[in-house]
Amino acid sequence: MKTIGLLGGMSWESTVLYYQLLNEGVRERLGGLHSAKVLMHSVDFAEIEQFQVNGQWQEAGNKLGDAALGLTLSGADMILICTNLMHKVAPIIEAQIKVPLLHIADATGKAIKGQGLKKVGLLGARYTMEEDFYRQRLLDNFGLDVIIPEPEDREYVHQAIFKELCVGKFTDGTRKNYLTIIDKLRDQGAEGVILGCTEIPLLVRQDDTDLPLFNTAALHARYALEQAFTEDENSNS
Ligand code: GLU
Repeated sequence: MKTIGLLGGMSWESTVLYYQLLNEGVRERLGGLHSAKVLMHSVDFAEIEQFQVNGQWQEAGNKLGDAALGLTLSGADMILICTNLMHKVAPIIEAQIKVPLLHIADATGKAIKGQGLKKVGLLGARYTMEEDFYRQRLLDNFGLDVIIPEPEDREYVHQAIFKELCVGKFTDGTRKNYLTIIDKLRDQGAEGVILGCTEIPLLVRQDDTDLPLFNTAALHARYALEQAFTEDENSNS
């Protein structure tokens, strides 16, 4: 079993989910007292959010790149950025490390393609929905047509992530509003919806709608487990 390195804390509400899913996955595979080999660098999210707001993406990337390097020097065989949005700086982080960075959009695209879907909606932070780093990768690597909500709905989804979900506030009202936005994406032809922010699965669950939802945190963790149990010459199991 390889060691999984997590860049966490963005926010810690969803990093908890990663830790739990990785350990549950190892228990399913190996049983008994087995648990995941995990190294984590958990940041102060307020510092990262300031970089986002100020447009200091290079600084954010350098900070996360240094953290990733530290994890690899401590023995991590792969790195996961436990947020969709901060994959905006994935190339900066990748340049710092020699082990694979497992991209959350690849984990997600693989699952969507596996279900044979071609057109999906995307909910997430404003940058994730509006910029190229996420949608273009899904188009290039998986041929997916990714649609996003109308501007005012995007603003609502974004604000709720930072003002509510990332501070542990999950309300019925916000869930209902998210589900309305999901329904609008369905009306625009979405065959499924990517919960492209790792906290959204803590608010909206598959039981809330019959449209397929893609829980990016869970898919990312599953992808890491597949890699952790794949033999290669770097394996330290
Ligand atoms: N966790 C969120 C995501 O998956 C957003 C938080 C952030 O990274 O700023 O995109």
